[in-house]
Amino acid sequence: MKIRGKTSGYVLRTVDYGESDRIVSFFTEDRGKLRGIAKGARRSRKRFANALDLFSCSTILFTAGSGDGFALIEGCDVRKNYPGIRGDLEKTLMASYMIELVDLFTVDGKKNLSVFALIEDFLDLFEENDATEALLRFFEFRLLRHSGYEPSLERCVVCGTAVEEISRPTFRPADGGIRCERCAVPEDTTWPLSPGTAKTLLYGRNLEAERLSRVAFSPRSLGESRQVLHGMIRHIVGREIRSLSVLQEVGRICL
Ligand SMILES: [Zn+2]
Repeated sequence: MKIRGKTSGYVLRTVDYGESDRIVSFFTEDRGKLRGIAKGARRSRKRFANALDLFSCSTILFTAGSGDGFALIEGCDVRKNYPGIRGDLEKTLMASYMIELVDLFTVDGKKNLSVFALIEDFLDLFEENDATEALLRFFEFRLLRHSGYEPSLERCVVCGTAVEEISRPTFRPADGGIRCERCAVPEDTTWPLSPGTAKTLLYGRNLEAERLSRVAFSPRSLGESRQVLHGMIRHIVGREIRSLSVLQEVGRICL
């Protein structure tokens, strides 16, 4: 049975299709990831205006089956286009990276309001504030958390020793968490993760988004959290993240 629906969604990806159409993936409030075809989207700029730009937030009118199949995108009205992000190359690259991660960590038809709110919070933050590497790290941590992969940083995953009682915790992506010296696996891929870094990441876990800009990382913590979060994301996704490579090449700050 076909249903007509209306929901809000962020544009995750668009691919040209045929002569005049466009295939679009959204992350929507009501249906999670929604993929569909926007007929005539390339021919008529007026009909979809900026509503299909990457990471725009739009109100989407669609017809779809009851499952997670392909939808017909009948209309799209842009709600937020984020001019502050689009006018800044580095912010654009960061937003593109966040959106690619959301695409990789979500599946069609599975609603996840925490992920929806996460995108909204962080795009609003980047629109209004300086783009910082610390904010990206918090985004990665929260996306992992809301997707069921929260890194386990509070205690050793094997013996349960609390992180503050471990002198040299190491993070192992295959565990998704830290180990103490006694439980460490020396032969495997592991990275140091000091208790201070773990504390900073855990502190930002539930903080309101507007307050995250004020959380300071030491250069060491920033380096450690970058290594650990990217390592975990690579481990889950099974490959490098394309937009992260672009960001690292072009970005002013080393990410
Ligand atoms: Zn242990």
